[in-house]
Amino acid sequence: MKVKKRWIFLIGIIILFGLLSIPELTHTNTGQSESTGSVRKGKLKNGWLMPFEGNNYRYFSRFSYYILNNAYVNSSVYATLTEAYKECESTCPDREFILMECTRKHGGRMLIHWTHQNGTSVDFMVPKKRNDDNAIMSNHAGMAHYLLQFNKDGQLSLNHKTVIDFESMAKHILALDDAAKRNGLRIHKILFNTHMHDELFSTPSGKKLQERNIPIRPNLTDLINRYHDDHYHVDFDL
Ligand SMILES: [Zn+2]
Repeated sequence: MKVKKRWIFLIGIIILFGLLSIPELTHTNTGQSESTGSVRKGKLKNGWLMPFEGNNYRYFSRFSYYILNNAYVNSSVYATLTEAYKECESTCPDREFILMECTRKHGGRMLIHWTHQNGTSVDFMVPKKRNDDNAIMSNHAGMAHYLLQFNKDGQLSLNHKTVIDFESMAKHILALDDAAKRNGLRIHKILFNTHMHDELFSTPSGKKLQERNIPIRPNLTDLINRYHDDHYHVDFDL
C-alpha cells in the first residue's frame, strides 16, 4: 500500500511539473517586448524566452526555466545575448557559457533577487576551467551554483583546481557590449565581486574592458559582493 502511495505521489509530481512547463513548451517569440518601470519595480510585456541551450551555451537550471519561468528577457536583450554568444563561438571556441536567471514571463518580483523585474537584468555564470577543460561538475550545480564561493584569485572554495576563466569572461562582456550597441542598447551596470577585479582587468581582454569604460561597479556593499562571486549581473539600458 505504501509503495502504491509513493507511486501516486511521484506521478502527481511529474504531472504537476508537466503542467507548469506548458508556458515554456508552447511559447513563441514574436513582435517587440515592452519593459516598464525599473529593474527594482517593473513589468515585462511580451517577454522573449531565451533558448534552453545553444551551440556554446545553456540555461543553468530546468527548475528555474520551466517551473519558475525565469528565463524571459526584453526582445532587444534577447538579440544582444544570442549575438554575443554567437561571437564567443569564434573568440572562445572551447568554453561553455551558462546563462542564469533573467526575468519572469510578465516581470515583477522574483525569488532571491532584488532586481530582474522588467526584462533588462541578466545573470551570467562565471565561465570556469579545470586544467584547460570546462568545469563540468560546478557548471551543473543548478540553483545551488548561487551558493558557491570563490576566493580573490577566482578559485572555487570547494576545489581550488576549478578556477574562473577571466579572459573568457572579459571576452563575453566585450561581445555583450558590441551586441548591445548594435541593438540600440547599452550596458548600464555590471555587478561582480570587487575582490576579483584585479584578476579580471589583468587579462588582455580585461584591459579592453577598462579602455572602453564598461561600467563594472568598483564599489559594492559586503552583501552584494558576497552574492556576486559565482556570477556577474548585467543591467541593460533600453
Ligand atoms: Zn542578478
